[in-house]
Amino acid sequence: MLNTGVSGQQMAPDGLEPVRILLNTWLIPPGTRQLEDRFNDFLHLREVSGEHGPLLREFRDDLRAGMGARGWPDERINTWIDRCGIRVTVEGGQVAFRHTGTPVGEMMTAVLHAIQLGHWRRLKACPGCHWVFYDHSKSGSKRWCQVAKTDGPTGRACGTLDKSRRHRARQMLTVPAVPVRPPDVRPDFTALEPDTTWPQ
Ligand SMILES: [Zn+2]
Repeated sequence: MLNTGVSGQQMAPDGLEPVRILLNTWLIPPGTRQLEDRFNDFLHLREVSGEHGPLLREFRDDLRAGMGARGWPDERINTWIDRCGIRVTVEGGQVAFRHTGTPVGEMMTAVLHAIQLGHWRRLKACPGCHWVFYDHSKSGSKRWCQVAKTDGPTGRACGTLDKSRRHRARQMLTVPAVPVRPPDVRPDFTALEPDTTWPQ
């Protein structure tokens, strides 16, 4: 089954949502913590022709590998602009992006549009489970996903897991140290030689 989203709160606006769904075909669910690759489900459900599969998978993997704290590096974006043959045009007084008609080209135009609108930097990968979500918060400083209690009965949000991990670590540090008794050192008188010079 394709994991198309957990909550509407994390969905990306406009054309960026298919990109987010593609990125989330590679995931580590918090319930199992086992890597899953649902790329083939994506092709099937989106009715993408198999011939486009390899390029689309490469695009997904490159995007995933490049998504760091500072977003996708410019050079990677420029490489994909070239590979997709994207052209910039003006239509109806607005800048528009045209491509050669591949699914990757379609996604790249959505990425460029999102960069223009300032939406791109809000697409983030959770450091815990790598789930990609759109940060709708006012400050844009969200870090963790909200995959809470939806991924199996034991599923919990990664932020909550991290919080309890840090809490446990703090507790370990604050456990009172057992006082160490100084070693019971006594002089070993048996090692002393008898004073043979003492008058008898
Ligand atoms: Zn997560």
